[in-house]
Amino acid sequence: RLEVRSLMRRFDGRAVVDDISFAIPQGQVTCLLGPSGCGKSTTLRMIAGVDMQDSGEIFVNGALICDTVFRVPPERREIGLMFQDFALFPHLSVAQNVAFGLSGSSADKAARVGDLLERVHMARHRDSYPHALSGGEQQRVALARALAPRPRILLMDEPFSGLDERLRDDIRDETLALLKDEGTAVLLVTHEPHEAMRMADEILLMRAGKIVQRGAPYNLYNAPVDRRAAAFFSDIN
Ligand code: ATP
Ligand code: MG
Repeated sequence: RLEVRSLMRRFDGRAVVDDISFAIPQGQVTCLLGPSGCGKSTTLRMIAGVDMQDSGEIFVNGALICDTVFRVPPERREIGLMFQDFALFPHLSVAQNVAFGLSGSSADKAARVGDLLERVHMARHRDSYPHALSGGEQQRVALARALAPRPRILLMDEPFSGLDERLRDDIRDETLALLKDEGTAVLLVTHEPHEAMRMADEILLMRAGKIVQRGAPYNLYNAPVDRRAAAFFSDIN
């Protein structure tokens, strides 16, 4: 479970993330949805620990991991990351990429890697190198790698935006099934209402650093908070 209280970040005196609070229970996918520049990635970076908030607190499973004086370093937060450029290690094979963040016995590691590669349908590519994979295949390996150490929280920043349009919905559905299976709490950043509608249990609609509406996808779609929100959702077919 991830909880964020009154998170605030300023750049040059301007509040880019402006007092936002939310919680994500284990097993839930929450989408942070909003237009370019509204502060989505900045929010994710603070939770990941690669940027520091000006005020507010972040908790994982009830334990404080960061406020303005105390800070658990990123590598000890048990938070997984997945960004737009999948950034697989080019010099490591598929199996080595997935095993990279794992500790424990080599038998345990091999079992976890084998299981995940099976579930993302990449088992027969286990000895391939990233350059020999398609975008969709690289994305599947990146997902397996992010989930391998069983992070309590997974942060995803526009993970599908590099993919071919025709592939995207299939990969979204596969990704969602695996996330649900693993029971991870997920914060997924997107600027596409369609993606949020398809994947989210809860949507946080963000605008200029603030959460302007939150709720189940059908609630935001059926009862948008204002005209701008209505226009934003009206593109979905
Ligand atoms: P996009 O959908 O385009 O990725 P976003 O919602 O992720 O947008 P952020 O990257 O969080 O937006 O940026 C929010 C605002 O903060 C932008 O106006 C950006 O220019 C500004 N910003 C982000 N990082 C910095 C920084 N290090 N220094 C100054 N301004 C920054
Ligand atoms: Mg961004």
